Amino acid sequence: MPSNVFFAPIAYARYEESQTLPAKFDRMLEASELGERVNGKTVAIKMHVGGGSGYSTIHPVFVRRLVQFVQNHGGRCFITDHYVNDRRPASRGYTEETVGCPILDDCGYFGKYFYTKNVDFRTLKHVDIAGLIHDADFMIDFSHVKGHGACGYGGACKNIAMGCVTDRTRHQLHALEGGLLWDKEKCIRCDMCIESCNHHANSFTAEGNYKVFYHNCTNCQHCLKVCPTNAITLDSHNYEDFQRGMAIATKTVIDTFAPGNVYYINVLTSITALCDCWGMTTPSLVPDIGIIAGDDIVAVESASLDQIKIENLIPVGVPEGMELGESGHLFERLHGKDPYIQVGKLAEVGLGSQDYTITEIK
Ligand code: SF4
Ligand code: SF4
Repeated sequence: MPSNVFFAPIAYARYEESQTLPAKFDRMLEASELGERVNGKTVAIKMHVGGGSGYSTIHPVFVRRLVQFVQNHGGRCFITDHYVNDRRPASRGYTEETVGCPILDDCGYFGKYFYTKNVDFRTLKHVDIAGLIHDADFMIDFSHVKGHGACGYGGACKNIAMGCVTDRTRHQLHALEGGLLWDKEKCIRCDMCIESCNHHANSFTAEGNYKVFYHNCTNCQHCLKVCPTNAITLDSHNYEDFQRGMAIATKTVIDTFAPGNVYYINVLTSITALCDCWGMTTPSLVPDIGIIAGDDIVAVESASLDQIKIENLIPVGVPEGMELGESGHLFERLHGKDPYIQVGKLAEVGLGSQDYTITEIK
């Protein structure tokens, strides 16, 4: 049986506030029956608070409306993400005053509060669930949808699998992907790869060879993406293992909640090529689409990807001179990875259905 998803489209018929996305978001939340479910509960609203000069994460107007909705229905909520202290969310408009509730690091102030669940899938041996996520009664997975170099796309799954865990789990997940390959013949020693690394994980040896310290490397692929000569590539023969690892991590986090106590909201605005962790915003790849939400993460992710269409590509969203692949989803043409593989892996571990019906919010 198909899962229902709510869709608040960006398209509007008249010049009225009621026709705009924040107003539709309010109506979507009322239609979801989420209010009854958060009553009396501690609610973790997991989002990506971005970094640096980025301005494409979920706008505080939507965050505040969600917080108010939860509070009006008797829930006690907090916004949470990892590396909150380093990411300085206040510089992008997220403060307790603007959003209406605390903004907390999901692994605690020192990043050391977590619960370990043992799993066993190749290099993935532990899913260290962020302590504040684990301790909450209810989680709203509030995700900005965009491209992602490592995952192909970033949405509800990435917000959990990479965002509700510790560095150790992120490293174990990325280790499923295979390593970085460097071609000395192509390298012009511009050092852009070194400058792009936020984790002090790469360097050139005294002999001039590119070296990656995999203990620090999160496999974010920033170095790969900025290299002007394609001297760095990914040994991606294990890509499907990585996607399965992401699905296992997602399920492990979700399973800590009682059935029905996780809700998914994907915001499809400012859909850029790269993840918000880059700390910058490039132009949108496609026009804004709206907001998609529901109880089934697989259906919500599937519906989100289906709405991002190659025929709507805005050329300026792609770096000048970059040639896209010739087939597949827009994100596959951009990052070389079929995003529907991830959705299929989520379905394989029992998280939902790729069949969905849409209830459109007018
Ligand atoms: S970005 Fe590419 S070309 Fe530049 S130093 Fe790094 S590997 Fe070499
Ligand atoms: S993949 Fe990311 S963390 Fe690893 S060396 Fe490259 S830029 Fe640094």
